Amino acid sequence: MSTELWVKNGYVFTEDGFRYASIRIIDGKIDTLYECDSEPIKENKTNSIDASGCLVVPGFIDAHVHFNDPGRTDWEGIETGSTAAAIGGTTTIFDMPLNCSPSVTTVKSLHNKREYLTSQSYVDYALWGGMTSNSISNTEELAQMSEGIIAWKAFMSESGIDDFPYVPPQQLEQAMKIAAQQNKILALHAEWEEEINTLTTFYKNQNALNERKAFLASRPISAEEQAVSYALEAAAKYGTCVHFVHISSARVIKLIQQAKKSGINVTVETCPHYLIFDEEDFLKAGAILKCAPPLRSREEVEGLWECISNGWIDTIGSDHSPCLFSMKNTDSIWEAWGGIQGVQFTWLALLDEALKRKIPLKDILPLGTANVANVFGISGRKGRIVHGLDADLALISLDETTIADQQSIAFRNQYSPYENRNFLLKVKKTILRGKVIYDDQFGVTPEKYGQYIQPRK
Ligand code: ZN
Repeated sequence: MSTELWVKNGYVFTEDGFRYASIRIIDGKIDTLYECDSEPIKENKTNSIDASGCLVVPGFIDAHVHFNDPGRTDWEGIETGSTAAAIGGTTTIFDMPLNCSPSVTTVKSLHNKREYLTSQSYVDYALWGGMTSNSISNTEELAQMSEGIIAWKAFMSESGIDDFPYVPPQQLEQAMKIAAQQNKILALHAEWEEEINTLTTFYKNQNALNERKAFLASRPISAEEQAVSYALEAAAKYGTCVHFVHISSARVIKLIQQAKKSGINVTVETCPHYLIFDEEDFLKAGAILKCAPPLRSREEVEGLWECISNGWIDTIGSDHSPCLFSMKNTDSIWEAWGGIQGVQFTWLALLDEALKRKIPLKDILPLGTANVANVFGISGRKGRIVHGLDADLALISLDETTIADQQSIAFRNQYSPYENRNFLLKVKKTILRGKVIYDDQFGVTPEKYGQYIQPRK
């Protein structure tokens, strides 16, 4: 027997912008959108949710999280990570191949991770595969892996994880070639290792009075520019689809935009922390805002928002990269773990900021929904509220607020740079394939409905 659910009278984000509508969901898929007071709605006696006063938007797809399962569950874990995601309105995550242990760089580690995560997630998930200087020569293994992964990830600088060595420039062409042959996206952490390595040594030896300033200076925008330029040239040579993750600077986005115009198959992600915080915040707060690339000047933050308005940024991912608090609470900033904990607050923070800036929500919502689905080839399943797609929805009230106090943090280690922020909106419900997985009154449901997303060939 088929199941039916109605989400009634919401302000629904459709392909043509927002409109008042009721959504009929059958067997977890979007069936039809009706005008709010039309006949079928009055007549239906089935399950329904009243979405009056709420925005109804596609469930967010966070293509960039590190949930560290299996192997480093004291840093996070799929259960806590996906709980936090669901609370924040996210219905799909793509888990990165590093910071779990072992890293996902072999068929075996991919298989084990997939097995391990079965029935453990509250939200749907896909898995990234890692290409490293060690794994890159094993083309047969990489070919097998490519069938189970959403895309490839490689680093152009040290990753900080022993079993995930970066791909040096002389090997990058090989990575581009493999990804192109497999018709898979190659996502890159783009910082030029040689430059940041030299600068890091220099600044560490200076014993600078202000270590935080020295850290910022050790990872300049020019290191991103150099890496991106180099990678774009290699991508053009092999026709590779290349995706730059966590780009921090408008200057670099412009470089990527020019490449796009010239026909290179390239997309780009930025992260909420580059749009919310700046280097002054880092100088004050320290390690809790340490990430790589680091936070930039206020001008760069403004520049990134301009890039969003211009349609030059394709996706926003949280880059939720957790660790134990003790790894942040170090004597020296150089020793502290780099990474921002934010998966739960990504879209609260971004929509809050967009509202304050009077940026139409229709300009920013696709960066966490339809665009992500398009880039990663799952647009036939997720990312929009149209007939036939998974009924993944977030119901958001603009009449209520959310305080990110410590008790409300659902990820494992309860600290975050978003702590104590007050967002001028609230996620009321999160719905995954027609099932309510989070409700602001009752919390996250006990059942874990999250399913593995098998990429299409
Ligand atoms: Zn990351």
